Amino acid sequence: MADVQMAEAETFAFQAEINQLLSLIINTFYSNKEIFLRELISNSCDALDKIRFESLTDKSKLDAQPELFIRLVPDKANKTLSIIDSGIGMTKADLVNNLGTIARSGTKEFMEALQAGADVSMIGQFGVGFYSAYLVAEKVIVTTKHNDDEQYVWESQAGGSFTVTRDVNGEQLGRGTKITLFLKEDQLEYLEERRIKDLVKKHSEFISYPIYLWTEKTTEKEISDDEDDEPKKDEEGAVEEVDEDKEKEKGKKKKIKEVSHEWQLINKQKPIWLRKPEEITKEEYASFYKSLTNDWEDHLAVKHFSVEGQLEFKAILFVPKRAPFDLFDNRKKMNNIKLYVRRVFIMDNCEELMPE
Ligand code: ADP
Repeated sequence: MADVQMAEAETFAFQAEINQLLSLIINTFYSNKEIFLRELISNSCDALDKIRFESLTDKSKLDAQPELFIRLVPDKANKTLSIIDSGIGMTKADLVNNLGTIARSGTKEFMEALQAGADVSMIGQFGVGFYSAYLVAEKVIVTTKHNDDEQYVWESQAGGSFTVTRDVNGEQLGRGTKITLFLKEDQLEYLEERRIKDLVKKHSEFISYPIYLWTEKTTEKEISDDEDDEPKKDEEGAVEEVDEDKEKEKGKKKKIKEVSHEWQLINKQKPIWLRKPEEITKEEYASFYKSLTNDWEDHLAVKHFSVEGQLEFKAILFVPKRAPFDLFDNRKKMNNIKLYVRRVFIMDNCEELMPE
C-alpha cells in the first residue's frame, strides 16, 4: 500500500465583521451576482502584477511557473467553476490573515454602504472582493502556492469558520492560486461557455494577462469498422459511441462522437486607450468600438483624449452611425459612458466625469 501522508486540517473562526459580511452576501437578495467573476479575475490580475514586479529584480522568482496567465475551468459534472492564476500565491500566514481573520477597514464600510442602498458591485472598491464568491457559491476552496511556502488549501462553506490544510497529495500548481467555486443549484449558468465569455468581454476584456477558457468541442466522425476496434482516445480519454443500429445497416461505417478540450484565449483586445492616438489605426478603433458595443457597423466619429488635473483619466468617445432603435424608450437603461479603473470595468454610466 502506498504511504499516504495525511495533513491535519486546522480550523479558524472568521473575524466577526467578516462573518457578518458573509451572512449579508449570502442572505440578502442581489440580482447582480455576475460581478463575482470580475472580482476574482481582478484579484488574479493583482497577484500577477505582484509576481511580475518581484521578478523585475529577481528573475528566478518565476522559475516555478514562468508563464503568467489566468485560466477559467467550468466543470459541469462537479458543478464547479475554477479561476486559476500563476500569480504570487499566498503563504499559509497570508491565507489565514487575508481570507478570514484580519478584517479590512473596508469590511464595515461596505456593509454600511450596502445598508444605505449601495450596489453589491461596489464590493471591490472596499477591498473585500474575494467574498463576492459567496454570491454564487455554497462552498469555496482556495488552493495556493507561494514561492516561500508549501502548497495550502483553504476551504469554507461560510457558517463562521474555515479550514487550512497543507496540500500534500493535490495537483501541484507550481506557483499561484486556484479558486474553486462549488456553485449553488440556481447559479449553474456560470458553467456555460457563452455566459463566461460574455462576462469576461463585459467586465474584464482589457485585463493585461491572457485569460484562457477551458472549452469543450464535440465532433462526430465516421469511421470504418476495421479502424474502430480500439477507439482512439483524445487527451481526456472521452470517447462516446452512437448510432449502433445505423452501423449495422451500413455494415462498414460507424459514427463516433469525439469530445476534445482546448484552452481558448478570450480577452484578445488590448486596452487601446492606453496607447498613443497617433499610433492607432482607424480599423483598430473600429474593432474596439464594435467589441464594446456589439454594433455591426463602424463608428461615425471618435475622440481620444486625456485629462489631467484633480482627476486624471484617458478617454475615448465614440459616436455611432445610427441612433439606437429604442432611443426614446425611457424604460430602457441606456448604455452610456463606461468607466474602467486600472483596466477593470467599474460602471457604465459615468457621465458626470465628462466635460459637457
Ligand atoms: P483586495 O483584493 O481588494 O485586497 P480581497 O478581499 O479581494 O481584497 O482579497 C483579500 C486579499 O487576499 C488580497 O489583498 C490578496 O492579498 C489575497 N488574494 C485574494 N485573491 C488572491 C489571488 N488570486 N492570489 C493571491 N492573493 C490573493
